[in-house]
Amino acid sequence: MRKEYLMTPGPTPVPPEVLISQARPIFHHRTPRYTNILVSVEEDLKQVFQTKNDILIFAASGTGAMESAVSNLFSAGDKVIIGSNGKFGDRLVQIAEVYGLNPVKLEYEWDQVVNPADIEKHLKEDPNNEIKGVLVVQSETSTGILNDVKTIGNIVKDYPAVFVVDSITGLGAVDVKSDEWNLDVVMTGSQKGLMLPPGLCCVSVSEKAWKAVESSTLPTFYFSYEKSRKALHKASPTNPFTPPISLMVGLQEALKMMREEGRENVIKRHALLAEAVRQGVQTIGLELFAPPEGRGNAVTPVRVPDGIDGTQIVKIMRDKYGITIAGGQEHLKGKIFRIGHLGYFDRFDIIVTLAGVEMALYELGYPVELGSAVAAAQKVFMENPL
Ligand SMILES: *Cc1c(COP(=O)(O)O)cnc(C)c1O
Repeated sequence: MRKEYLMTPGPTPVPPEVLISQARPIFHHRTPRYTNILVSVEEDLKQVFQTKNDILIFAASGTGAMESAVSNLFSAGDKVIIGSNGKFGDRLVQIAEVYGLNPVKLEYEWDQVVNPADIEKHLKEDPNNEIKGVLVVQSETSTGILNDVKTIGNIVKDYPAVFVVDSITGLGAVDVKSDEWNLDVVMTGSQKGLMLPPGLCCVSVSEKAWKAVESSTLPTFYFSYEKSRKALHKASPTNPFTPPISLMVGLQEALKMMREEGRENVIKRHALLAEAVRQGVQTIGLELFAPPEGRGNAVTPVRVPDGIDGTQIVKIMRDKYGITIAGGQEHLKGKIFRIGHLGYFDRFDIIVTLAGVEMALYELGYPVELGSAVAAAQKVFMENPL
C-alpha cells in the first residue's frame, strides 16, 4: 500500500467535503436550485476577488480564461504590452499572436520580477494611445515568482489601456484587491486556489474592461463576455450554455470553506506554509529560486544543488514515496523543483513534503541531515500558530 500526496501548484488537492458534494446526482441547470447556487457562488467569488464586478464563469481550464480575455477585449492589430518572466507570460503572448494582436513582449529572466517602470515607460511614450492593454501574470506558476500587480495597476489606471491579470495561482494564496488596485480583468481556474478539480474558470470584468469589450471586433461565441453577462443579469441568473453543474456545486462548497476560514486567514495560512518551506529547504543548504522581492505563497521553487539531477528528485519522490511535486519547465527542467502549497494545504502537508525532499536528496548522495528541514518547518509552525 502506498498513499499518494499531491503537492503541485495545480491541480491541487480537493477537500473531502467538496468531493462528496460533487458526487450527488446531476440536476437540471434551468431551475431555481441551480440559480441559487450561481447567485451564492457569485457573491462569495466577489469576496475572494475583492470586487463589485460581475464574475463570468466558463467550463474550461485556466487557459480558456486567458484566451477569453484576449478575444473579448481586443481587435486584430491592437498593440498590447505583455510582461513575461515565465511560461504563462509566454502563453499570453502566444494567444495574442494567434488572434492577430500586436503584442510587445517585455521579456525578463525567469528569476526576475516584471518591472512596473518598464510598463510605465511604454505607456508614457505612446502619445496616440495605441496601447490597448497591459497583460501580466500575477503569480508565475512556472517559477513561483510574484509580480507586483498593485503597482502596475496604479500606473495603467491613468491610461486608456485595460489591465489584464492572470491570477490563476494568485487568488486564494495572496491578496488580490481587484477594485482597489485597478485590475480590470482578473482570472482564475478551479484546480488552483479554489480547491476544485480542473474544468472551470472565472473572470472578473471592470467597467473600463466592458468598454473595451464593446469596441472589440474579434469573433467570440462560447467565450462571449456579453452573452455571459446577459445570462447573469436575467431575472433568474443563469449561464448561457450548460454549466459544469458538479463543479459549480463543488465551488459553492469550497467557497463556503474559504468564507468560514476568513479571506485574511486563508492568505495568512498560505504565507506561513510558504515561509516554512523556505526555511526548511534553506536549512539543508538549498537556494531559493525567486528573488526576495518576488516570493509568492502558492508555490516555492528551489534550485537543485550542483551535481544533482533535479528530475531524479521529482521522480524518486513520486515513484518511491508517492509524493508528487513539480519539476522545472522549459530551460529550468532539472534545474529547479517546485513545491506547491496552494489551496487545501495545512502544516503537515509541508512536513511530509520536506521529509520526502530530504530522503530523495539523501538517496542521490547530497549531504543532508535527515530531519533538519522538517525541524526548521516545525519551528516556524511553533512560533506562528495559525
Ligand atoms: C495553471 C495556470 C494557467 C492555466 O493553465 P491550465 O492548464 O489551462 O489550467 C494559467 N496561468 C497560470 C499562472 C497558471 O498557473
